[in-house]
Amino acid sequence: MTKFSELNLDPKVLKAVEAAGYETPTPIQEGAIPPALEGRDVLGIAQTGTGKTASFTLPMITMLSKGRARARMPRSLVLAPTRELAAQVAENFDIYSKNTKLTKALLIGGVSFKEQDALIDRGVDVLIATPGRLLDHFERGKLLLTGVQIMVVDEADRMLDMGFIPDIERIFQLTPFTRQTLFFSATMAPEIERITNTFLSNPAKIEVARAATTSETITQALVYHTPRRKDYTAKDKRAILRSIIEQEGEACTNAIIFCNRKTEVDIVAKSLKKHGLNAEPIHGDLEQSHRMRVLGGFREGEIRFLCASDVAARGLDIPNVSHVFNFDVPGHAEDYVHRIGRTGRAGREGKAFTIATPLDDRQIKAVEDLVKLTIPRVDNPWTPPAGRTKADKTDKSDAGGKTADKGGKAATAEGRAAAGKPDKSDKSAERGKSRSGGNKVLGMGDHLPTFIAKSFEERMAS
Ligand code: AMP
Repeated sequence: MTKFSELNLDPKVLKAVEAAGYETPTPIQEGAIPPALEGRDVLGIAQTGTGKTASFTLPMITMLSKGRARARMPRSLVLAPTRELAAQVAENFDIYSKNTKLTKALLIGGVSFKEQDALIDRGVDVLIATPGRLLDHFERGKLLLTGVQIMVVDEADRMLDMGFIPDIERIFQLTPFTRQTLFFSATMAPEIERITNTFLSNPAKIEVARAATTSETITQALVYHTPRRKDYTAKDKRAILRSIIEQEGEACTNAIIFCNRKTEVDIVAKSLKKHGLNAEPIHGDLEQSHRMRVLGGFREGEIRFLCASDVAARGLDIPNVSHVFNFDVPGHAEDYVHRIGRTGRAGREGKAFTIATPLDDRQIKAVEDLVKLTIPRVDNPWTPPAGRTKADKTDKSDAGGKTADKGGKAATAEGRAAAGKPDKSDKSAERGKSRSGGNKVLGMGDHLPTFIAKSFEERMAS
């Protein structure tokens, strides 16, 4: 097995790697570091969690240790698709370069131009940026890219998803063609292939653990639920989520809950909070400073549940996540792998639950085809409240009905209350009147049909 000491890295870098507690290089590091140090272009096909950040940061620091930065002319450039990812690369850079005098600047949106200008003016060895913000600085005439010797493109497939490819092409053209390029992508979509054919020169290609591989340390489970009514879907799923959390108990130390839409991210976080659970949302519409605060809180263990969209969570390095919940089945099958890859890292145990309804059948099949396994179906721990609609009384044959017995037994009174299910000991709760919690519908007096009261209450609760 290769050791870090055999990779020709600067002794100062080796010291920092040792201090970080890394014993052996990961496959992407073993494959990418030697050609990078030889000055070759590198095409790394690797997803996050494989150690790819160090695979470009360590050789960069080694190569940049000779020479000095000039004002407004960074010597190297790292492009990342999101602010969080860029900030994370910057953090990694700080860890690995702590024994050197190299300087860096982070150019991301949501931070004042003035501060960033001052750093660039002083001269930086490493500039870490999101593409849009970099071009903003360039257009303001504050930045020259003609001194860039090494350019890194990280998470190129996500850049593609986010529509950044034209920006990337433009940035490539603003840097000297003699530059060295280190290019990373989890997948090789045709558009990515075109870019690498155009801008990389005879790259060393390193492919590790394909995106379709899910870690063996992750226990996967799928909770299948057929809502009584289509418009109950989201509400039911929130109740199921709470029931799973309750069922997992203390084993669920912290979790990322993935939703497909930003609005859903907000609703789920709000709903969990309302039920006394410590949750915060994170998505692209939130202020940068707010996102960083939430992320910090989650890392520190002050926040137990992080409700996230794919874009916001992609590539975030959060160690020790015990659980991942797919509140929604992801639209792109590959995102399933990325999402559940947030748990079970570095050999630790992790659990990934996916909540699915019949509307997700096609997408579940796409995920299962990709990961080449059938996600084990587990009992639905949540029992839908009885008597909500006519269908509730008659339809006992669906997934919810089938598993109701087991789940009903397992659920505590608190769980039932949280799920909006009346405790059986409270007979009056069966009546719509008391369920509505005093929310009367004008003109209906006490004769409020149960299902109206229930759905009204549900709307209030969400
Ligand atoms: P990345 O894929 O760059 O996001 O890295 C994922 C995680 O692996 C980060 O927490 C790194 O600190 C950690 N890591 C990177 N390289 C190694 C290594 N050689 N040994 C152990 N952990 C590592």
